[in-house]
Amino acid sequence: MLVALLVASLAVTRVSGASVTPPVVVLDPGHDLRANLRTEPIGPGSSTRKIKDGGGAHGVVSGLSEAQLNLAVALRTRTLLERAGVRVVMTRATTSGTSIGNIARAQIANRAGAALFLRIHADGSTDPSARGSHTLYPALRSGWTDDIYTQSKRAAGVVQREVVRSLGFPDRGLQERTDFTGFNWADVPAILVELGYMTNPREDRLLATPTYQRRAARGLCRGTLLFLRRAPSACG
Ligand SMILES: [Zn+2]
Repeated sequence: MLVALLVASLAVTRVSGASVTPPVVVLDPGHDLRANLRTEPIGPGSSTRKIKDGGGAHGVVSGLSEAQLNLAVALRTRTLLERAGVRVVMTRATTSGTSIGNIARAQIANRAGAALFLRIHADGSTDPSARGSHTLYPALRSGWTDDIYTQSKRAAGVVQREVVRSLGFPDRGLQERTDFTGFNWADVPAILVELGYMTNPREDRLLATPTYQRRAARGLCRGTLLFLRRAPSACG
């Protein structure tokens, strides 16, 4: 009897479960232990090629590599999103190899059927006073990004707002990019968040702390849930 009931309830769960399949978010912590100076086409069929991965920024005060910071924030974001019922796929979960490049990252998101391809980075500049958070999204280009443009732009807006609110760094706004390989190869909504500047002593010092990494993750989680039209309070 108990078994029969259990089987019956499982069957019901499975049937109704089809309509509540959790959304998938692909988190892409930028860079890796080593740069990748090979080149790849910036979009499908393009003769313009760019380096796969120049290596990323470095913390002027903390000494952290951008790859380490991006991963620390991504792992915290994964925990929050999973707690909120979102399935998370990571493009990398360690900082230990040569960067796979941006086509490969986009293909992970495409294969996962991601509701959002969320790329996590921090910035660098030759000007140490440059600071603030900004979010990039794909510019409209027929055949490459026309299928993801509107949703990417909407995602960029909500995630930028929540990250700024959570970190409290200056709001550098949104920027469209025609030249980002990882955007041009994406078939799912894609954005890239630059949390702050690792070349700015203040922002680097703060981003290296667990408190600010937690804040960054909370902003990314809240923005993602808002984009998915879910309650951001689930991020804690
Ligand atoms: Zn970067």
